Amino acid sequence: MIDIKKDLPEIFEDFAENRQNSFLKVREVKENDNPLIGVFCKFFPQELAIAIDGTAVSLCSTSDETIADAEKDLPRNLCPLIKSSYGFAITDKCPFFYFSDLVVGETTCDGKKKMYEYLAETKPVHVMELPNKQSKEGLVLWEKEIYKMIDVLEEYFGRKITKEKLEEAIKIKNAERTAVKDFYEIMKNDEIPVSGLELWHVLNGITFEFDKRAVPKQLKDLKEKIFSENEKITGKPRILITGCPIGGATEKVIEAVENHGGVVVAYENCGGAKAIDRNVEEDTGDPIRAIAEKYIEIGCACMSPNPNRMDLLNRIVDQYKVDGVIDMHLQACQPFQVESLKIKRFANNEKNIPYISIETDYSQSDIGQINTRVAAFIEMI
Ligand code: SF4
Ligand code: SF4
Repeated sequence: MIDIKKDLPEIFEDFAENRQNSFLKVREVKENDNPLIGVFCKFFPQELAIAIDGTAVSLCSTSDETIADAEKDLPRNLCPLIKSSYGFAITDKCPFFYFSDLVVGETTCDGKKKMYEYLAETKPVHVMELPNKQSKEGLVLWEKEIYKMIDVLEEYFGRKITKEKLEEAIKIKNAERTAVKDFYEIMKNDEIPVSGLELWHVLNGITFEFDKRAVPKQLKDLKEKIFSENEKITGKPRILITGCPIGGATEKVIEAVENHGGVVVAYENCGGAKAIDRNVEEDTGDPIRAIAEKYIEIGCACMSPNPNRMDLLNRIVDQYKVDGVIDMHLQACQPFQVESLKIKRFANNEKNIPYISIETDYSQSDIGQINTRVAAFIEMI
């Protein structure tokens, strides 16, 4: 059994105010003796963290601040998300990484998989073996991995994960997912009360709310407030962003759309609809099977084939009245780059709407080029 980490190291004292705020928030979690599980992927079943009265936090970093440090150990032509996350981990610049008692990885893409081997030199790391097919055999393997994960958590934190605890955790996470979905569905309207960038900030910010039970009320209040106070946006080309996880430095793509007359009405990426489209079935008598079934269905390009991404995109394009699709790829991300042809064919041939893919990284150097391409795309719509 381990001691829960609670103290803030001196290095954090110098940091900018907003970063300090997140340190303080995460420290509150630790002061209550709650385990913090650092995760890199939406496939980690967050219900497991809740079932040990802990919380899971995303360690996917989205800034280029630590990429130079990461490149001392990792190849330069690797996805910036992997380099940035690793860089924050080894430089102790990420409070979430610092305070994570255990880091959990999944065998998704090869770059991440191999990065975890180095990460394990600095932190306790457990890697869940994620099948790359959503088949019957895949589900059996994934369910076994969830049982294994439960054993690891129980032993590591000295807490028991019972069926009752899991059922309760499923209800908490379902309520949170339903509330987030209800919030972003405001973008289905013809007249919308927030820009895509504002929506993104809400979606991203809410993932750092560690009290999951508080989320539904917070979002309900926010929704009422923006509908009554904000001016409505209408008549602009409606854009869907899909592809690699977006946020942080890659908000430049959202800004390019909204600075050139469009509005981003939906995000299919992780952080948007992808991971929360489906809830876990409640009260089935077998909560582990129910959790396994929900999570394996996530339509990530690491799955082959990946029909669930197409299914979700199809529904989003219709429901949000999407006029154009932007597929955002991080440099050197093979799964999403190879899958892009399918998305292009789907958008152009099945939905009759324009599509562009944009490859980018976490630097500022391509902002001019992105603006030019996105402006031409919006003009064409
Ligand atoms: S895009 Fe895929 S690998 Fe990346 S966080 Fe999402 S589910 Fe995980
Ligand atoms: S963006 Fe692509 S390469 Fe990067 S971690 Fe995700 S799947 Fe892997």
